[in-house]
Amino acid sequence: MQASFRYRRGPIRDHQGDVSAEVESLLTERLRTFFGDEAAIAPDGPEAPDAPAEGVVVTLALERPLFDEQLLRQMIEICATQRRPVTVEGAAGGTAPLSVTWAGGAEAAPFQLLWESQFEQNVQLEINRLKRLKIFLALVRRHPGMHRRPLAEILDFLASPEGTGFVLAYGEDVPLDRYAACPNCGNDVLTAVRPGNSQPRIGYLPRAARYYDHCGGCNLVFLNPVMPEGELHRLYDWYDKEGTTDVTAADFEPEAMRRVSYYQNFEMALDKVGDRLPADARTLDLGGGAGWFSVMAKRRFPGWQCSSVDFDCRHVEALLAERGVEARSMDILNAAHPRDSYDLVTMFEVVEHLRVERLKLIWAKVRDMLKPGGLFVFSTPDFDSDYARATDFWVAYVPHHVTVLSAPVLQPMWEAAGFEEVDRDARSLLFREGYGDFAYGARHHASMAARSEAAIMDGLLRLSDARRALYGLMEETRSGGEMIVTLRKIEDES
Ligand SMILES: [Zn+2]
Repeated sequence: MQASFRYRRGPIRDHQGDVSAEVESLLTERLRTFFGDEAAIAPDGPEAPDAPAEGVVVTLALERPLFDEQLLRQMIEICATQRRPVTVEGAAGGTAPLSVTWAGGAEAAPFQLLWESQFEQNVQLEINRLKRLKIFLALVRRHPGMHRRPLAEILDFLASPEGTGFVLAYGEDVPLDRYAACPNCGNDVLTAVRPGNSQPRIGYLPRAARYYDHCGGCNLVFLNPVMPEGELHRLYDWYDKEGTTDVTAADFEPEAMRRVSYYQNFEMALDKVGDRLPADARTLDLGGGAGWFSVMAKRRFPGWQCSSVDFDCRHVEALLAERGVEARSMDILNAAHPRDSYDLVTMFEVVEHLRVERLKLIWAKVRDMLKPGGLFVFSTPDFDSDYARATDFWVAYVPHHVTVLSAPVLQPMWEAAGFEEVDRDARSLLFREGYGDFAYGARHHASMAARSEAAIMDGLLRLSDARRALYGLMEETRSGGEMIVTLRKIEDES
């Protein structure tokens, strides 16, 4: 079956620059492997050769170099015999062509091919996200010839312990630690937990891959195998900074800050603690990133003395200083902190990045930093939340989220360290206006049912009344995908 192939060009950049040429040659090699050396492929656009007078024209995407060769063959055959365009629904993420059309014929209604590979594989291979680009490039560089193998073989490799370990190591050449028992409670009855509909943002983890284990003894969900403690910093490189460019003064304008991911969680935290703290409260935001929370806190409570700490915040030091916030670069757990000196310590979306052995040390550290009666607010995705489960949100950040937590795991830790619970609430960032998660699901969820459910949710959330009603429900039932907990340091008896 002959067809003319072209691909839509889009610049693909990594930290070293444009890597389009490398991806282009991998795509071409894959195409020639399955469609013969004579298969002609050219970029779309002005320099593309003229379409044949008659015949099948296939347009591939440079962002989908690991196309499904069986799907493509079938689409070409249908197109050639039916002489009409062929569309496909249900193909595994990043494996379908952009279009298969018939040149020379009249415009005919498309043949609609339903393909169930996403139902079977539940995977995302498209390299339109930086993390997936990193994994793809590491995969073909460390396993030469991988891109010429049939898709089923590539997915079998990715589902094998070796392939899954490769993704969990973030494509780095690091031997992983494997747990035989739960690192929290020692129970050795572990079961695999997997997403049903959506896919981890990093992609490259098909349905059969095993990466999160659940301990029935304590409800901890943890990556297994996992990066060794000393190597965890490798997860935070250039590819981790999706969509963020250098932070500038404009990003701190109040309107711009409303677009920060966890803006609503920050607001909620300030609502909860504002009245409980003195007018000159000292606050410390651990893992504060660019310092968004501290700037919001300082704006709302100008008398507060706010500091923001992260591994490296030198790039925002001056910007934060101008806004009255002190930025400090340090390793939170290993640095010495003054005792009894803060009224408020916050930690948004940080605890899930720590291995549980380290997480257990956090509580006592924070307790020591707080003044008697001081407050600790943290937020983290909640494995027990219906919102987190319905959207597969809990699984989205493999391998950066080393654990997926819940109240049964955390409560004993904070209680043992001398905290009492003041408030526990929840919100879901996914339900924010314009977040786009349901639009993604409408295209990439594993089953036809789930794709349609996501399309309905996407439509509903565009209606402000429906969104408000959902937020009202979340507020009333204190539910949502991320729990936001406020704790108070219990005064020493002595
Ligand atoms: Zn356990």
